[in-house]
Amino acid sequence: MGITAFVGCINNEVRDTPIIRNGKTCAMTGFGYLNHLSGCEVWSNYYTNFSTRVIGLQEMIDTLKSGDVDKRINILVTEMGDLLDAIGSSQKEILFINSFVRQLGKIGRDIGEVIFYYDCQRFNDIALRLRIHTNTVLIPAKYHMDNIPCYSTKCKKDHKIFVYSYKPPQDDPIKCFNARKIGETTKYDTYEIAKDVLYIPSKKEFAKMLSEDKGVL
Ligand SMILES: [Zn+2]
Repeated sequence: MGITAFVGCINNEVRDTPIIRNGKTCAMTGFGYLNHLSGCEVWSNYYTNFSTRVIGLQEMIDTLKSGDVDKRINILVTEMGDLLDAIGSSQKEILFINSFVRQLGKIGRDIGEVIFYYDCQRFNDIALRLRIHTNTVLIPAKYHMDNIPCYSTKCKKDHKIFVYSYKPPQDDPIKCFNARKIGETTKYDTYEIAKDVLYIPSKKEFAKMLSEDKGVL
C-alpha cells in the first residue's frame, strides 16, 4: 500500500509559485497515466481518458470491499481536503480515515495492490491521521518552457510542471511533465468531480472492525 499526496504547499508559507493551479492535478494525472501504461488499472474521481472507472471515493471503497483485488489499482482523488471537510466534525473525519486506511492496508496483504494518490491545496489542512499514513508528499511547481516560474493562475502559455519531493526530502525535482501534453494525451477534466456521500462508521462499528482484523493498522 502506498499513499501519495500532491499538494500546493505544506503550510501557509510563502512560495515562489501559486498554490492554486500549480500543477497538482496535472502531476497526479501524469503519474497515473504512467502507472496505466505499466499495466495498472486506474480509478479516478474526475474524468481522464485512461480511467477504467470515474467514480466517487465512497464507491471506490465499496468496490474494493466487495471483491478480491488481484491486480494493481491506482486511485486518483482530486480535492481530498474538500471531500474530508464535507464529512463534518474532526471526530467523523478520524473515523472515516481510520476505516479507509485499515481497508487499504488489508488489500496490500493479498496479491493485489492499491496505490492511492490524492491532491489538496495545503497538506497541513488534511487530518493528521491521513498525513501520518501518507508515505510520499510531492509539491509540483509551474514553470514556463524557458524555466521562468509562472505566477499566474490564468496564464495560457505552455508550462512544464517540475515535481519536487517533500517527503522523502530531495533537492532536485523527481519528474518534469509538459502540462499541455498531459492535457492533450489524457483529456483530464476536473470541472465535474464525481462526489458521493462518504460513509462514516460509528465508534462502535470501528471497534468491531479492529477486533475482527487484528494487526492491520
Ligand atoms: Zn504561465
